[in-house]
Amino acid sequence: MDLNNIYNELGVDKEVFDFCSDIEATLKNRFDAIDKIAEYNQLKVLNAFRSCKVSEGCLYGSTGYGYNDMGRDTLEEVYAKVFNTESALVRSQIACGTHALSTALFAILRPGDELLSPVGKPYDTLEGIIGINPLPGSLTEFGVTYRQVDLLEDGGFDYEKIRDSINAKTKLITIQRSKGYQTRPTLSVERIGELIKFVKGVKPDVIVMVDNCYGEFVEIIEPSDVGADLCIGSLIKNPGGGLAPTGGYIVGKKSLVDLCAYRLTTPGLGKEVGASLGVNTSFYQGLFLAPTIVAGALKGAIFAACVYEKLGYRCVPDATEPRYDIIQSVVLGSPEKLIAFCKGIQAAAPVDSFVVPEPWPMPGYQSDVIMAAGAFIQGSSIELSADGPLTEPYAVYFQGGLTWFHAKYGIIMSLEMLYKEKLITL
Ligand SMILES: *Cc1c(COP(=O)(O)O)cnc(C)c1O
Repeated sequence: MDLNNIYNELGVDKEVFDFCSDIEATLKNRFDAIDKIAEYNQLKVLNAFRSCKVSEGCLYGSTGYGYNDMGRDTLEEVYAKVFNTESALVRSQIACGTHALSTALFAILRPGDELLSPVGKPYDTLEGIIGINPLPGSLTEFGVTYRQVDLLEDGGFDYEKIRDSINAKTKLITIQRSKGYQTRPTLSVERIGELIKFVKGVKPDVIVMVDNCYGEFVEIIEPSDVGADLCIGSLIKNPGGGLAPTGGYIVGKKSLVDLCAYRLTTPGLGKEVGASLGVNTSFYQGLFLAPTIVAGALKGAIFAACVYEKLGYRCVPDATEPRYDIIQSVVLGSPEKLIAFCKGIQAAAPVDSFVVPEPWPMPGYQSDVIMAAGAFIQGSSIELSADGPLTEPYAVYFQGGLTWFHAKYGIIMSLEMLYKEKLITL
């Protein structure tokens, strides 16, 4: 069968298709390795469903207070089992990943306590919560102080400085797994484990929280398998499998998850309240699909790195590096190329494919930003999406793809746009 015809019908030139096909042909071994991880994680998730006895009744939702919501409570048992923790809080009332992280920070930290990030600056949206960028209501206003130790030049942990920064006030240590929109490498679970061992060696009762966003199911273990007391993420990223319409999760030690539930609802009520309304089925089904969805997104990221590296563009991570999250960045070097790339991703979307993305002055950014997304769930970044600020070095960040074939087509279309506008030669 000649796939070229259908690609051609969808606007892909033969030169572009052939160039990409040659690259895809070299990726078989890497894709096999990704499939093996997906298979392991699929069985891990299925095993949790089985041992928690997920039943048809779990798929119905509650209203009002949400007392005795069997589906919600069983789902939390499933998450706890998957992440190998004592307890879990998985709720649509958690609005996003930032809210989940904020809930945990405010749940645990008390006036006079100190928060430490030993892996450099945390994700942008946390700056206002911590008070690095002092917003009304931030932890700073409650008398919680913050310290940060940056990674070393080579990406390693600055153990000496970390030891010196842990003091009598240090209550919580936050570790971000994914690089997010920074240039540092994403941390493997193994490296997170080493860091946790070190900080607990310095102060055994310190609480370690991991921002697990974009990392779930990329490896066969999670940070909660290597000593993290809390692991936190968004359901419109990896673990929601593209089906969860909103929500976040917090997994970890029971006493800490209970504190988070007290913060999310109220002391005393905690996990007992919070109607699941109609979301239980999509939370279950999304988690069930998440391992293979993440595998598709990873294949897309590797494919893109191979395509663009071959054309001479710097990719982070590069084409051969191991992967610890689903984010790929490509340094395109000019505004025209960045815009064309995003147009290609948008044109490949299942929703709003006819929309042309334009750079705009997004609040909170120094320069204009361009974003491409045509998602079923607003803002979902487990679905194929791309964005980048229109400033040096004109890097595009992209992630997701609910199927490998969609991710592949999106990347081919990004290249097609660059080719058609004569911004590259093949
Ligand atoms: C996405 C993300 C968050 C949370 O972002 P939301 O948009 O609020 O879900 C936090 N940390 C990292 C590393 C992320 O990638």
